[in-house]
Amino acid sequence: MACTFVIFGGYGDLTGRFLLPAVAHLRRSGDLPDGFRVVATARRDSDTDRYREWVAERLERHAGDLEPNERAATVELVSFEPADAADPDDVARVLAGAGDDLIAYLALPPAVYGPAIEALERAGLPAGTRLVVEKPFGESEDHARELNALVHRALPEEAVFRVDHFLGKQTVQNLVGLRFANRILEPVWNRDHIEAVDVVWDETLALEGRASYYDGAGALVDMVQNHLLQLLALLAMEPPATLDERDLRDRKYDVLRAVAHLDAGEVERSTVRGRYTAGEVDGRAVPAYVEEEGVDPGRGTETFAQVRLTVENWRWAGVPFTLRTGKALAADRREVVVRFRPVPHLAFCDQQPHPNELRLQLGPDRVALRLTVNGPGDPFSLRDAELDTDLGDPGLPAYATVLREVLVGNPILSIRGDEAEESWRIVEPVLAGWRAGRVPLQDAPAGSAGPAAAGSLSGP
Ligand code: NDP
Repeated sequence: MACTFVIFGGYGDLTGRFLLPAVAHLRRSGDLPDGFRVVATARRDSDTDRYREWVAERLERHAGDLEPNERAATVELVSFEPADAADPDDVARVLAGAGDDLIAYLALPPAVYGPAIEALERAGLPAGTRLVVEKPFGESEDHARELNALVHRALPEEAVFRVDHFLGKQTVQNLVGLRFANRILEPVWNRDHIEAVDVVWDETLALEGRASYYDGAGALVDMVQNHLLQLLALLAMEPPATLDERDLRDRKYDVLRAVAHLDAGEVERSTVRGRYTAGEVDGRAVPAYVEEEGVDPGRGTETFAQVRLTVENWRWAGVPFTLRTGKALAADRREVVVRFRPVPHLAFCDQQPHPNELRLQLGPDRVALRLTVNGPGDPFSLRDAELDTDLGDPGLPAYATVLREVLVGNPILSIRGDEAEESWRIVEPVLAGWRAGRVPLQDAPAGSAGPAAAGSLSGP
């Protein structure tokens, strides 16, 4: 049976930048099912010829590592049909031509998810349909719950794939391998030995023309509510019995449930909210966020978010997990840093060693462990030594890895409905506190380390 991949939001930035390049990579790696084809839809007046031109240009830009003939073969898989994803008649027409082996991908503005899911349900989905929904899933815990109820009217949970492409990243998957395939880590992976965990996603990239989405979301919703909380969940979860989606997602869900609620006072003490002003990044001038095209300064959207959370269970009580992300910062720094507690007693030297640190870098993918050893020539002095390993070329881009699992119907790399709701529960008090002005929006020039209040976390 031929598989039809229907994209709602066919002309979107996400489709051109990530989704179709992922299809192209899966075509090359031989992971597309026989007869696979893509039907893209959007409301605008267009047709297959014009759409294919657009796709060819996007693939050249975003899948430039593929040979021209490989990109051309992907373009041939694609056709276009104008349709409003919120209009049940339009959706029914598109589905009527799609056949029974259907994947529906919602690459739409978040506000259209609800109407689009209703339209799909009314159109009637063939048994076995897989529904893929982009992030952010909902705008609040209640909204995510409503969306989940809508989705479950149409399909069982196992057929729903809420995308978080971080789960397709090699280093993120390595978190599971590293933690559970090494005997030496588990005995120290707890509050007795770990002092703090930082999850950092600092970017030199500024807004890059994405105001229509980003200005409505901000750093907290764009990154913390999904990607960074997923990293926290993988870092802090109990060992799953198997790598079955149920075991893995149950363990992640347990962690999210255990993240302590931040009351208003905690939001003031434990979060930092910032926004970049004009500056220079890597020698290029960057305008202030509020001067970027399409930004409404009145919204007070943050481009920097830092949140300190605790996971209140036996393993982690009291250990701060700091999640931080920002745009237009001085350097790209994308990593998890696990900082161990100091040794309890040092017999032979006054020098206080740096604590051991395990660093997991997300691009280039690398794992490093900082140890303390004796100084050269002087056995009574100490110095840092780093054991590190490059994880090598991930092979497929993260989006392609996630999509490959969708194609085989395995939701292991997707967010379960209850995880999405719980993630909103965690960030909602922060959003509310920020909207109420309880935490000042601190300006910091582009190219700086972000607001001073953020501190430096564990230094690189
Ligand atoms: P865009 O605004 O670039 O694209 C949205 C697309 O949806 C357009 O093709 C638009 O075309 C179409 N569209 C809008 N309303 C409807 C409708 N009622 N029916 C059918 N098509 C419609 O958004 P992005 O591609 O940036 O984002 C899409 C989703 O992906 C969002 O949920 C976003 O949060 C998520 N995402 C985006 C990322 C990115 O880097 N861009 C990264 C991660 C997630 P037309 O107006 O012609 O209908």
